[in-house]
Amino acid sequence: MSVQPTENYQFETGVYRPPSEGGSFSLLVRFTRNCPWNRCGFCAMYKTEKFQLRPVPEIKADIDAIAALCNALTDSDGRVCQDAAVRLISRRPALNNHPGFAMVYHWLHAGGKTAFVQDANSMIMPTDALVEALGHLRHTFASIVRVTSYARSKTIAQKSPDELVAIHQAGLDRLHVGLESGDADLLKHIKKGVTPENHIKGGQMAMAAGFQLSEYWMPGLGGRQMWEQHARNTALVLNQINPHFIRSRPLNTVPGTPLCDDEAAGRLTMLTAHEQLRELKLMIQTLEVTSRVCFDHAANYWTDRRGNLLFTHSYEGYKFPEEKPKVLERIEQGLLTDNHRPSRLLL
Ligand code: SF4
Repeated sequence: MSVQPTENYQFETGVYRPPSEGGSFSLLVRFTRNCPWNRCGFCAMYKTEKFQLRPVPEIKADIDAIAALCNALTDSDGRVCQDAAVRLISRRPALNNHPGFAMVYHWLHAGGKTAFVQDANSMIMPTDALVEALGHLRHTFASIVRVTSYARSKTIAQKSPDELVAIHQAGLDRLHVGLESGDADLLKHIKKGVTPENHIKGGQMAMAAGFQLSEYWMPGLGGRQMWEQHARNTALVLNQINPHFIRSRPLNTVPGTPLCDDEAAGRLTMLTAHEQLRELKLMIQTLEVTSRVCFDHAANYWTDRRGNLLFTHSYEGYKFPEEKPKVLERIEQGLLTDNHRPSRLLL
């Protein structure tokens, strides 16, 4: 770790990161603030906040401050040290209220291996700025083996193939993309701001540039009105991208969002657990990929008759096509009951 001799520990930490980055205790480094699109009908994450690009010197100063904090938290062998943390807090009590202090401490404890670049769409940064910021992050923390970020399909597709390769080579390994649906009508209805063609082009370009790609889809998003076209067209779009990971994030309507208003007005009829599984069955049957299909979120709550979760919540999920029959068999088990209350993890 290259560290400046400073006691400036001030750096920003955003609120959101994918669950899989929480599972690996990723370092959160904020390159932009909030979401440059901010119009998706189901999303409440950044609704009251304005998007801002951050100047590269500001991002680099944050990275230097994190490095200084790491230095203060480790012993001469580079190991994170609880005594050092206690000494630091007694010298600088304000660190107790620092949102990034515990995050950095746990990141060091986990080996300092992974980082997540915040906030909602880092690929919106000018390519040279993104490359410079990534280079500083990688140069400062040699222990990092994986850097990931959220990105929108359309933004990826607006970069040239050479720009994408440059960003990947600067140290960004994995992109988390909110696909939500592959159905044109539904994408328009939820104001995703992309077409199925944009999703396919962005996904294929990300794959061609060498990124690991995680695509998130939202079971239940079309409600009873659009479930069938949502299931089928989502699978067909994913078939053309064939990303490394496909992650299920079933719809929960959030108060204050347009989709919640749709539900209240009867324009969106939420699926029952049984209907969700019927949609899931059609989607999985249509899916022809070599991806890992993951149910790594508590919203994947379906159970079998014995009360076991239907799917593992592991971040690595199920390897397709090998484990596709197993996933379909679990769906059949879920369809045998209406009592979907998770009691324990199925491992
Ligand atoms: S792009 Fe992502 S963060 Fe932005 S509004 Fe849509 S779902 Fe929310």
